[in-house]
Amino acid sequence: MAGRIPREFVDELMSRVDIVDVIDERVQLKKQGKEYSACCPFHDEKTPSFTVSPTKQFYHCFGCGAHGTALGFLMEYEHMGFVEAVEDLASRVGMPVPREQGSVARREDGPDLGNIYDVLERSAGFYRKQLREHAQAPRAVEYLKQRGLSGNIAAEFGIGFAPPGWDNLSSVFGSGKE
Ligand SMILES: [Zn+2]
Repeated sequence: MAGRIPREFVDELMSRVDIVDVIDERVQLKKQGKEYSACCPFHDEKTPSFTVSPTKQFYHCFGCGAHGTALGFLMEYEHMGFVEAVEDLASRVGMPVPREQGSVARREDGPDLGNIYDVLERSAGFYRKQLREHAQAPRAVEYLKQRGLSGNIAAEFGIGFAPPGWDNLSSVFGSGKE
């Protein structure tokens, strides 16, 4: 798994990218005093209430409240994911995107992703185990075979079986082990 993009890199990137260039390529901006304006690309309007500030490096729409940085604009307007938007901006200014190595560590300014991956991995392990061991697993296996999925394919793609019930995972996490 690729590591997390360091926060410092994103900060550095944002200081090198000009939001005016990024948006002007997609929405034609008109200079008005210190700012730029256009008809908002996020809502339907006849008179421009979408503004871009080169000093603050923000866009803001007084009509619909859309607001953000160059990164946010790409995510909203181009429907890019965070990583994709970072890579897009980085390639504009010729900065290679670094990835943090090793396990994803907890950071003060972000969620503990290492823990989330661990939780997902343990959940997936639980469901894979159910496909092998649960009393109703033969029905699920039968169904998979019917769909043309062999045991090897199921193993390769980590396919599991969610048995009836709503609190199965609590047996994994409630006791702290599978
Ligand atoms: Zn708007």
